[in-house]
Amino acid sequence: MSPALLTDSHIAGVDSVAVKIAHQNGFGTRAIHVGSEPNPETGAVIPPISLATTYKQDAIGVHKGFEYSRSDNPNRHALEETLASIEAGGAYGIALSSGSATTATVLSSLGPNAHIISVNDVYGGTFRYMTKVAKINQGLETTFVDLENADDDTILAAIRPNTKLIWIESPTNPTLRLIDIPRIVSLARSHPSSPLVLVDNTFMSPFYQSPLLQGADIVMHSLTKYVNGHSDVVMGALILPPHHTSLAEKLRFLQNAIGAIPSPYDCWLAQRGIKTLHLRMKTHGTNALAVAQALQRSPYVEEVIYPGLASHPRNKLAYRSLSPHARKFVDSYNRIRRSGALEDADEGGFPFGGMISFRIRGGAEEAERFLTSTRLFTLAESLGGVESLAEHPAKMTHGSIPEAERAILGIGDNLVRLSVGIEEVEDLVADVEQALLAATSPLTSSRSSVSDFNVSD
Ligand SMILES: *Cc1c(COP(=O)(O)O)cnc(C)c1O
Repeated sequence: MSPALLTDSHIAGVDSVAVKIAHQNGFGTRAIHVGSEPNPETGAVIPPISLATTYKQDAIGVHKGFEYSRSDNPNRHALEETLASIEAGGAYGIALSSGSATTATVLSSLGPNAHIISVNDVYGGTFRYMTKVAKINQGLETTFVDLENADDDTILAAIRPNTKLIWIESPTNPTLRLIDIPRIVSLARSHPSSPLVLVDNTFMSPFYQSPLLQGADIVMHSLTKYVNGHSDVVMGALILPPHHTSLAEKLRFLQNAIGAIPSPYDCWLAQRGIKTLHLRMKTHGTNALAVAQALQRSPYVEEVIYPGLASHPRNKLAYRSLSPHARKFVDSYNRIRRSGALEDADEGGFPFGGMISFRIRGGAEEAERFLTSTRLFTLAESLGGVESLAEHPAKMTHGSIPEAERAILGIGDNLVRLSVGIEEVEDLVADVEQALLAATSPLTSSRSSVSDFNVSD
């Protein structure tokens, strides 16, 4: 890669030649190098954190590309460049202070009295913003549709003359239902209203799924999760393809005008996180597959939901949804497994992100006992960090959804959600197995029977 070219693009904004060059390298190479060129003045290989709020002008309006830090600053600019490069098919990155601020900014761009269609089990905060804020402040109307199962006619019938956007999350949270993104894109394009298609790609991260290559118009991320990956930054972003220049300009205008921007320090941290995104995502995936298979073997588990499992009803769609770089990884991983190097090869399946949900045999009591019996999985909301987390959707992340609605969405009292981290896989599998035993047969096992923390390496 040519650092000079990338430096030029860093100053001049998105340069299509530089973007093309950036896209010729593999995912991990881009994650490490794009937006991270050695500092031309000092040679520092990692960008300095630039805390200045304002920038010297040599004459009125003559400056080096930065005027005031809300409008643009070097760390945010660099991070946005990295994001536009790793989210395949992207050209414009726009970073905002949280995933929720990202949702608010993109929905504001639709203006007054617009209509949108949203997947019915959308992230809770997104649902809240659509129905409790945008509805009141800008008259936004949202139709929630089961975009996984609804037939073409049902989806087309939901599109109105003022439908501006279709909001997709895939896989959905917490039941990991998969939406066929190219199908929704072609339905949207076939309707005279031609709504934009946005995909919240938080659960897959830019590593496993590339919605822009599947025809989506906008990708959003809560960078708080996998992209930063260390549970120490709250941030969000939008990524748009090269043909959406004017839409990107509109959103960049709102980024500055609304001002929900991330700090330079957080941008620096998120960029540091991105440098290991590919390594982390591969391990999240292989660990999650092993944990999902262990859950599937357990007599204490009623159902395991992991789209990478051969038993998942949309396992083929999961494979088709893989980004080109993830497919390369998955295929070579499976070749090694099938050659006999790994004992679980005959169970099939492939790594598909780090999120698993499962229904424990029993009810709320067993679920709670499981969640308080794990040694490594920490009972906490959120996901996507290096450390494993576990939670109870019905009482925690999805507690604000009325019970009847939860029942429709399959969020019962025995549902447990795991964010599988990148610890040693044997330790995670052993932890889940001992917690299942402790949860379902409390009299015959206890936590003291479990070997000490940290025994293996
Ligand atoms: C966490 C999350 C959000 C919201 O992001 P914040 O950074 O917490 O504001 C949006 N969508 C999905 C899928 C999420 O997991």
